[in-house]
Amino acid sequence: MGRPESSKGKMSIISYGGVGGLVTGSSHLIESKGSKFLIDLGMFQGRREERSERGERRNLTSLSEIERGLNQVVITHAHCDHSARVPKLYADDFRPETLATEATVAFMWPLLNNSADIQQSQYAPGDRIYNRHDVETTFRHVRGVKSFKEIPIGQKNSNMTVEFLLNGHVEGSSSILFRNYNNNKNVLFTGDMGKPVQSLCGGYTDFMDKYPQDPIDVLMIESTNFEKEPVLFEDKRREILDTIQSVWAGGGNSVFPVLSFHRCQELMEMIHNGQKNGNIPVDCEIIIDSPLAMEITDVYKKLGPKYLSPRYGNDPNFYKTDEESISRFDLKNLRVINSHEESVYNDATMAKCGKKVIILAGGGMGDHGRSVNYLKGDFCKNPKNAVVYTCYQVEGTYGANMLYNEKCSKENKEKYSKDKKTGAQVYKIEGFTSHISGPEETFDFLGRFNLENLKTVIIGHGKESAGEKMAEEFIRRGYQAKIIRPGIRQSIEF
Ligand SMILES: [Zn+2]
Ligand SMILES: [Zn+2]
Repeated sequence: MGRPESSKGKMSIISYGGVGGLVTGSSHLIESKGSKFLIDLGMFQGRREERSERGERRNLTSLSEIERGLNQVVITHAHCDHSARVPKLYADDFRPETLATEATVAFMWPLLNNSADIQQSQYAPGDRIYNRHDVETTFRHVRGVKSFKEIPIGQKNSNMTVEFLLNGHVEGSSSILFRNYNNNKNVLFTGDMGKPVQSLCGGYTDFMDKYPQDPIDVLMIESTNFEKEPVLFEDKRREILDTIQSVWAGGGNSVFPVLSFHRCQELMEMIHNGQKNGNIPVDCEIIIDSPLAMEITDVYKKLGPKYLSPRYGNDPNFYKTDEESISRFDLKNLRVINSHEESVYNDATMAKCGKKVIILAGGGMGDHGRSVNYLKGDFCKNPKNAVVYTCYQVEGTYGANMLYNEKCSKENKEKYSKDKKTGAQVYKIEGFTSHISGPEETFDFLGRFNLENLKTVIIGHGKESAGEKMAEEFIRRGYQAKIIRPGIRQSIEF
């Protein structure tokens, strides 16, 4: 491309999580010319992912190795596997600046406080990483920035910038374009890539007109769903309704373990539409058992229509007015469960309740949150009731084990462990992911960037098999770049 290359301004990328077959704990350290910043500092989730090969608890590992001279932390989005270890830095008395889009900052506040609360109530003192006070300290050093704007990064006058490029996935989520003007190298960190079209946050096709066309030299890409084909919005909407209806027909009810951020609101919007067009009867009670989800719904309302996609599903002709945009969360016959005691009582009364209800309970993987009350309580002892998973289940979580056992029992393999066996029916509805899925979508997204000069591809945030498939596909499509699937702490230099 004839751009000047210089040996000055060498740079390195070292990943401390979200690589080597792990999908959680994302954290990448970039160093160049004495400047140092992190892209993401996420929590490791699930018992298997959290333990290192040597058995250490990864979330408890000291960050001093990362911290020495760290200038900033750049957060791609508010999901815990990308942001929830940030307060540990401040708990350990480090004081870098943390940058994220304004929407990401708005959602990080309730999510990080909730993470502190979970640690306080469920972890042994020695296992706690930070508390609410540390979250408060963190937010004195958090700066919300505009998307699609170059922001200086590193030390003063470092000649380096980052730009947040909205990419769908969840509200505020961005890919990060890092420009290093010292050696004229550009690195694109995809973060978690959203889908082409999405409800609530919009899909990447809503933002792609603004994607810069600077030549990308290094691409760091996630591979979570590379082996999965996308599911049409209409198909998943239908499957949700069919499942709810068939469970009702059998005399039971459904509980949906949901992530309190995005998934809960996505289902609320779907139920809202179902009530409007008669697919969900108005006398059916909708129960939301997650204080966090309600707090987060308020953040959506406060951010307002300008942050919410006016679209619903894939219909290009369907646009919501500003008023409709906000009222999408206003459900008829809604009951919110406030306390833990009320939740336990609700589990007992809903186990055999004789009327139609839909329960959305916090904790998408069944490990934490109010969903635990139903999964381990009376509700799931009734074979007429159903658990409907829509979220990705990290290996080793309660939800993942439950689905595994269900699969084994259907295939008549008596391998499943008794403690995770449930009397209720178990469903997994595919396609509810907010990650880009399969090669076609992935390379469509990549096609929105200038990859003519691409020299290095770093693949992470996915199972080994997904990373392998993605590497093969880059080669098959004729990319000449060097492809790396790094392990944790492996330094890549440019
Ligand atoms: Zn994410
Ligand atoms: Zn992620």
